Amino acid sequence: MYEIVKHIDFCFGHRLIDYQGKCNQPHGHNGRVEIRLASDTLDAMGMVADFRDVRHSIQAWIDEHLDHRMILRRDDPLVEAIEALGQHAYLIDDNPTTENLARLVFEQTQALGFPVIAVTLWETPDSHATYAPPPVSTPANGKVAGKESSPAHS
Ligand SMILES: [Zn+2]
Repeated sequence: MYEIVKHIDFCFGHRLIDYQGKCNQPHGHNGRVEIRLASDTLDAMGMVADFRDVRHSIQAWIDEHLDHRMILRRDDPLVEAIEALGQHAYLIDDNPTTENLARLVFEQTQALGFPVIAVTLWETPDSHATYAPPPVSTPANGKVAGKESSPAHS
């Protein structure tokens, strides 16, 4: 199996709802996502995926939707205040924890057609969470994608 890894840095704000702790205050991070792509075979160019394509599609999506944005749960009362200022938050159905944001980037990377196996999001240099889907039961290829996550709500 071949694997490539792309790092993308972006800044974002968020806060956690129904959470007792300082992360229920709006705050920001200099985040970094690590996107892991894997394939048993290489394309005609000898690549899992072209880093340039990753930059043009996934990074462009992050730049447009997440970078320098507040990422909020859809029912957060802060959404109304931000929109009243003529600005736009990025809304998700779940609390915008590191884990859920890693899954968001994973699903978007997959939707863009890349063979993603895991996405890790660092909120700080020492706190990160990883999303990888549960193993698919395909005994034929023996591939196992593990799931790992560490709580990181700073
Ligand atoms: Zn945070």
